[in-house]
Amino acid sequence: MFTLPDLDYGYDALGKYISKDIMELHHGKHHQTYVDKLNTALQQATDLQNKPVTELISNLEAVPEPIRTAVRNHGGGHYNHTLFWKFMSPDGGGEPSGALAEALQKKYGSFQEFMDAFSEKALGIFGSGWAWLQPDLSIVTTANQDSPVMNGGAAPLLGLDVWEHAYYLDYTYKRGDYVNAWWHVVNWQEVAERFQLA
Ligand code: MN
Repeated sequence: MFTLPDLDYGYDALGKYISKDIMELHHGKHHQTYVDKLNTALQQATDLQNKPVTELISNLEAVPEPIRTAVRNHGGGHYNHTLFWKFMSPDGGGEPSGALAEALQKKYGSFQEFMDAFSEKALGIFGSGWAWLQPDLSIVTTANQDSPVMNGGAAPLLGLDVWEHAYYLDYTYKRGDYVNAWWHVVNWQEVAERFQLA
């Protein structure tokens, strides 16, 4: 059985940028629902229940067809959100340092230009989806709860949820304001560690 992971910080910890109300709903309700529906789907495939979610969604062909879409959507949702909570911190924001900073500067010209490119991708997503920074420092997007690992891709270094449930309570339709605020809580320490491991 999959379970909802605890946050490393309180629901109110990102308050100036992402409100307690959003965090309560996003983590406590939306993410919980992905977990619950993934567990429900896997009741039809008990041999898959003990596999890591990464393995399930990176090899969807191995999932029985009747539950494949459910595992794709809810397994993807569980995986993506588990990462997303780690990608934010009340001590976040600012700029990365060290090897990650140098690599981003080399690829994008400056940290600001990287942020601009990432924000542009996030704003360009039609409907619900995610923007991701990959280990090769490319920026990719996925629709719905699809994830870069689904097509044999590498695990992302960073990801931004641009579903309306992630921002509408605070920012209504102004996705750009949400993206601008989100940079203030990005956990660059986590991103740098993932870059080193990759
Ligand atoms: Mn979400």
